Amino acid sequence: MDNCIFCKIIAGEIPSAKVYEDEEMLVFRDIEPKAKVHLLCVPKAHFAYLSDADEEKAALIGRMLQKVGAHYHEWGLEAGYRVVINQGENAGQTVMHLHMHLLGGETLGW
Ligand code: AMP
Repeated sequence: MDNCIFCKIIAGEIPSAKVYEDEEMLVFRDIEPKAKVHLLCVPKAHFAYLSDADEEKAALIGRMLQKVGAHYHEWGLEAGYRVVINQGENAGQTVMHLHMHLLGGETLGW
């Protein structure tokens, strides 16, 4: 997608602090961390919103969660983590490419 910052990160056109990559997803450090460990888990296929998820995309999101579950202990999240997906203005979504925030590395407040 033109002008999508996460597509540019995925394409390697913008640098990122990558912690994991495979054929369908990328995990990298949030540039403005809201917790000691704050990662973004992003599908390589561009779509904007959680509500865009048809069966195929929902399965992809499921696989992303599975991979997070398989690797979180390598990323400083072994004591627990929170998964957040923001959708739309009221939730504060600023990047219109679906992403999961993975927050942890410390005790999280609400
Ligand atoms: P959201 O508010 O859910 O759309 O989250 C977007 C997140 O992307 C924010 O937490 C930003 O700090 C983060 N972000 C924006 N640009 C970059 C970037 N170039 N590298 C890493 N994280 C970024």
